[in-house]
Amino acid sequence: MIRERFLKILQAGERGEGLSSEDLDFLLSAEDQEEDGALFQTAERVRKEKVGNEVHLRGIVEFSNICVQNCLYCGLRRDNRRLRRYRMTPGEILDCTRNAMKIGLKTVVLQSGEDPWFTQDRLSGLIRRIKEETDLAITLSVGERPAEDYRAWKRAGADRYLLKQETASPALFARLRPGRTLRERLDSLRALKELGYEVGSGNMVGLPGQTEKDLVADIQLFKEWDFDMIGIGPFIPHPSTPLAESPAGDLHRSVKILAVTRIVTGNTHLPATTASGVLDPQGRKKALLAGANVIMPDITPGKYREHYDIYPGKTEPQGGMDSLIQLITSLGRVIGRGAGNRRPPS
Ligand code: SF4
Repeated sequence: MIRERFLKILQAGERGEGLSSEDLDFLLSAEDQEEDGALFQTAERVRKEKVGNEVHLRGIVEFSNICVQNCLYCGLRRDNRRLRRYRMTPGEILDCTRNAMKIGLKTVVLQSGEDPWFTQDRLSGLIRRIKEETDLAITLSVGERPAEDYRAWKRAGADRYLLKQETASPALFARLRPGRTLRERLDSLRALKELGYEVGSGNMVGLPGQTEKDLVADIQLFKEWDFDMIGIGPFIPHPSTPLAESPAGDLHRSVKILAVTRIVTGNTHLPATTASGVLDPQGRKKALLAGANVIMPDITPGKYREHYDIYPGKTEPQGGMDSLIQLITSLGRVIGRGAGNRRPPS
């Protein structure tokens, strides 16, 4: 049964009215199938109105799994000695982007651990080459770097930057990312915005020690910072990390947070994350039916892909790209044609 207050909050959200932390908490704490259905339907109506039927494909090239950081949840953490490390050459990365263009992608996401070999100059040179040879939009996802690096890469032609907040709780952030602070993360996000990047953030749902209040704070931060893209996915424990014994996050909960985020943020890009597809083969579909409008297929060469082991099970579903396209069209959606920049608010 759908409670009156639940419906009123959904209607207010759909009209674009601000929702309080109590409202968000009320939406998230509902455990009724009918209410979940109403939440997902509302998110889908907002998605359709604000960003349309297109699903944008962003091809990810995971070009280095070397990382100087030691995040407790991540298989790439520097203390994980079991991981076979690799670093693709700039030539190999360039080949991947040529391939991305050939298969019709409009955006590449260049993602890595925090690998100091990729200096400001090396990455700038690579970005320039990609821009000379392709018409791809370039998203960088290479972690926290000095603002001068962000500036140089923007000048070289980078369009977007992904840097997830992971959690809006300063205490949880500091515990999970030793030696780093949420304040520094937000300083980086601010610098990126000021430089004119389209900026993506995101969180993990079900982190050990994460509270309901923390998740509400995540959504409020998404709204307040007006991010251009927000990746929301369940926490998945990696066996070679200190969180190996922690339970995985709940996919249903993660999809609900995505739906609420769609309602609250309107026209932002929301990916159906790979992590959603790991916990449930239907995970990406569920996300696409709850407000998501982006999929990020992995286009890293096969010989490296399995070593980008941030969490277990992170592989493409059988059929790779074809099955993704089939999924999108089976839902009556269309593949995004252009670069998929964020639409102006309607
Ligand atoms: S989350 Fe990012 S910064 Fe942290 S260990 Fe993994 S790759 Fe490195």
